[in-house]
Amino acid sequence: MCSKGKRQSPINIPTNGSNIEIIEKALLTFCQNYFVPEANAMLINNGHTVQITLNKTTRCITLNASIFKQPIKYVLHHLHFHWGRKVYSGCEHRINDKTCDLEAHFVHYNAKYSSFEQAAAQPDGLMVIGVLFRVDKKADEKNGLPAISKRLKNVIEPNKSFKFEKPLDFAKLLRVIPMAKNVAGKMSQVAEANVPGPDFVIFNGSLTTPPCSENVIFVIFIHRLPISVSQKEPFLELKKMKDGKIVPMGDNNRATQPLGDRKIYVAKSYDFDFDKRK
Ligand SMILES: [Zn+2]
Repeated sequence: MCSKGKRQSPINIPTNGSNIEIIEKALLTFCQNYFVPEANAMLINNGHTVQITLNKTTRCITLNASIFKQPIKYVLHHLHFHWGRKVYSGCEHRINDKTCDLEAHFVHYNAKYSSFEQAAAQPDGLMVIGVLFRVDKKADEKNGLPAISKRLKNVIEPNKSFKFEKPLDFAKLLRVIPMAKNVAGKMSQVAEANVPGPDFVIFNGSLTTPPCSENVIFVIFIHRLPISVSQKEPFLELKKMKDGKIVPMGDNNRATQPLGDRKIYVAKSYDFDFDKRK
């Protein structure tokens, strides 16, 4: 699919060993705007994935880690998903060989560039936050992605788009990000929200679709979040074009790529005990 590189994504994230490097500090700081409801969000079947395009360009986040010379500010551009054609399959990243069933990518660009397109051509242009979901029969229907799952029926065919009929409650959507859920819903009163490093790992990677550009910093939340079967199933209905025929879209998760000598950066006091934390 892509020519081989040295920092291709996704990867199987080890939980110990020589690739793990523990760093002093890793902090994600969401600006207040990150949580404002999105008035004109669009849901789009682009033939490869289902994407939520945002009009607001002021949702910022700062990644502050001791591996960087200075904190890096990013702007959220869109989010999209990867999933399998079966209920129980579909994440791109694995954690210590454990897989999951749906992966959300919050795609950000470096705020020092004036647009996503400009940043995408730069070596320090992009940052993707990955949130991993596992299907759980006992999952609460109110949590997870109900606002998105229920609307997927509007974009089953490729190139269909759907404008959310009411502002997309971004704070609610962001409950998918552990720690952010503690402040979601109250964000109008909160200036910013910090997510500390033990909840996520940082590493260098690439786009997982062509051109597979090696200019993406990945921030992967290690605690897989439960979603219900009925929230996963609508993803299985989505279609794409292949050889002139309409076929199921799923299995848009790229296989894991060699880790090589890459470092996986985690904050001190990190904790991979993700299955105990719901
Ligand atoms: Zn992706």
